[in-house]
Formats: sequence, structure tokens, C-alpha cells
Amino acid sequence: MLDTNIGRRRLIGGALAMVAASTFITECAFAATTERRLAFRNIHTNETFDARFYGANGWDDQGLAELNHGLRDWRNNEVTQMDPALMLLLAGVRDKLGLAPQARLDLISGYRSPQTNASLRARGGEHTGVASKSQHMLGKATDIRMPGVALETLRSAALSMQAGGVGYYPKDGFVHMDTGRVRLW
Ligand SMILES: [Zn+2]
Repeated sequence: MLDTNIGRRRLIGGALAMVAASTFITECAFAATTERRLAFRNIHTNETFDARFYGANGWDDQGLAELNHGLRDWRNNEVTQMDPALMLLLAGVRDKLGLAPQARLDLISGYRSPQTNASLRARGGEHTGVASKSQHMLGKATDIRMPGVALETLRSAALSMQAGGVGYYPKDGFVHMDTGRVRLW
């Protein structure tokens, strides 16, 4: 009887930990009763795109598809399904910095196909930090900067979300953000 109770308590504890881990996404979803949008400019191709990806009825599949396309591997046009939580995270950081929803984020890198990731790794240099199992390959990462926002300020805002990985690349002029484990480099 006692053992059963302890077991149950452990189970509840585990469930609570899982709830805590997903609190960020839940909070974002609740805050997003009005629409959420993102706008980008790809600094390599100068392509601009923007989309509403969340609205009164929840996720906007059309908008997410547009973002998937815009965030594709621009080197070979391969498209993947980006993690919607990453879109909420980026919009959340932008909002936190006081930028308008239509403010264009400078996109340095979104999805990376395995081929692109491998060639960037082989090239080294500014890509020395490219990991073999990059979150970019999973559609869970972007390298960005925000117009008019100091890179350090962007990094702090990203860190304060406690929502994934944050990488700081002052020499290359961008901050990496992903929805993997919370970590910092
Ligand atoms: Zn990155």
C-alpha cells in the first residue's frame, strides 16, 4: 500500500517535470490568442518573406508552410518542416525586444540539408562551430540578427526565454537559436 503511494507520487512528480519543460510552449500558445507573425530577409539571397503562423483558430498551416519555404536550405532549395515552437520562440524574442511583428529579421541560416551541413563543416573557418548533428538539420534552428538590436541584447533576450540552445557569434554577426536542450555557447 505504502509502496504504491510512493510509486504514484513519483509518477506525478515525473508528470509535473514534463509539464514544467513544456511550460514555455504552453505559455506562448496561451499568449497567442491573437495572431502571431514572422518576417524575414535572407541576407544571402535578399529574399523577403513574412507569414502569419498562428491565429484565433490555432496554428496556421498555410503560414507555417510559407515559413518552411522561406527558411529552406537556400543553397539547394531543399525544404523541411520547421519546428513550429521555433517560430513562437523567435516571435517571442522579437516581441520582448520591442520590435513590431512586421519587423524583418535578418536570416543567416535556417534549415540545412545534410549535404550543406557536411560541406560547411569541411570548409571550416566561420563555420568551425558547425556540429555534425546540427539542430539546423532537424529544422529546429535559425541563425539570425535583428535590425537595430545589438547582438549582445539579442543574445540576452534569447537566453532569458530558457527555451533551447543559444549560440553567440559576434565575429560573424549572428545569434543561433534552437529548440533543442537549453544550453549556451
Ligand atoms: Zn546555427
